[in-house]
Amino acid sequence: MVIKIAVVGAAGRMGQIMVQGLSEYDDLSIVTVVDVLEVPGATNWVTSVTDLSANDVDVVVDFSSAAGATATLRWCAVNGVAAVIGATGLSPEQVRSAVDENANVVLAANFSIGAILAERFAAQAAPYFERVEIIEMHHDQKRDAPSGTSLATASAMAVARRAAQVSTNPDPTVSLVLEGARGALGEGDIPIHSVRLPGLVAHQEVIFGRPGEGLTIRHDSYDRSSFVSGVALAVRSVRNRPGLTVGLDELI
Ligand code: NAD
Repeated sequence: MVIKIAVVGAAGRMGQIMVQGLSEYDDLSIVTVVDVLEVPGATNWVTSVTDLSANDVDVVVDFSSAAGATATLRWCAVNGVAAVIGATGLSPEQVRSAVDENANVVLAANFSIGAILAERFAAQAAPYFERVEIIEMHHDQKRDAPSGTSLATASAMAVARRAAQVSTNPDPTVSLVLEGARGALGEGDIPIHSVRLPGLVAHQEVIFGRPGEGLTIRHDSYDRSSFVSGVALAVRSVRNRPGLTVGLDELI
C-alpha cells in the first residue's frame, strides 16, 4: 500500500529535496506540501499543517524549523497521524512535551546513513581515548549551533564512557584569551566547535587523542540527497513504532 506523505518546509532546501527524492519511491506518495512560503510548481500547497486533512495523510515529514516542527507534532498528536521530524533545534524532552506518549514520532538530527554509522563508531571508540573534541561544519544559512548531530554524537559518546566507567581528562586550559575559544560543551563535557561557511553542506569530525596516537572519524554529506533514503526508512517504519524514536540508529 502506498504511504501518503505531507512535507512541511517544502519550499526550503531540505524540503525541496524531500519532495523530489521521496516521490521517486513507488511505495511513497507526496499528497500535500506545506510552507509559509509558496512552493514553486506545487498544485497541492497549503501554508499551515492545520490546513491538512488527517484522512488524506499517513505521515507528516517536517524539515521546517523548531517552531514549525512543534506545530506539526501538536497537529499529528491531535489527529493521530505519524510524524518524521528532521527539523533540528528541538530536544527529545521538548518533543515529548508536545505529544502524548502514544504518538508515533521519529526524530532524527541526521537522516544520512553514513552520519549514523559515524556516530556509532565514535561511541565505540570513546571509552578508549582520554580526550575527544567535535568539529561540525555546515553551510552559512544554518540557524542553530551547534548542530543536532554533534549534540547527539557527544551524547552517544558520553553514554558509552559512562557505561565503561571511563571519565575524560580535564581540559588543560586555565586562561581563555578569547571567550569561546574552547567551543561549547556537549554532554560529558565534550567540546563542540561550529564552523559556518558557504560551499559546505554538512560535515563532522570527531577527533580522539590518547598518549602517542589519535583517531579521526569524519563524515561528509556533499549533497542533501544523502538524507533521502534515511527519511524513506523512517516513513516506512514510524507507523509501527508507538512513542518517540530518537535517531535512525534503531532503524538501521
Ligand atoms: P530552509 O530555511 O531552507 O527551509 C525551511 C523551510 O521551512 C522554509 O521554506 C520556511 O518557509 C519553512 N517554514 C519554517 N517555519 C514554518 C512553519 N511554521 N510552517 C510552515 N513552513 C515553515 O532550511 P533547511 O536548510 O531546509 O533546513 C530545515 C531544517 O532541517 C533545519 O532545522 C535544519 O537544521 C534541518 N536539517 C535536518 C537534517 C536531518 O538530517 N535531520 C539535515 C539537514 C537539515
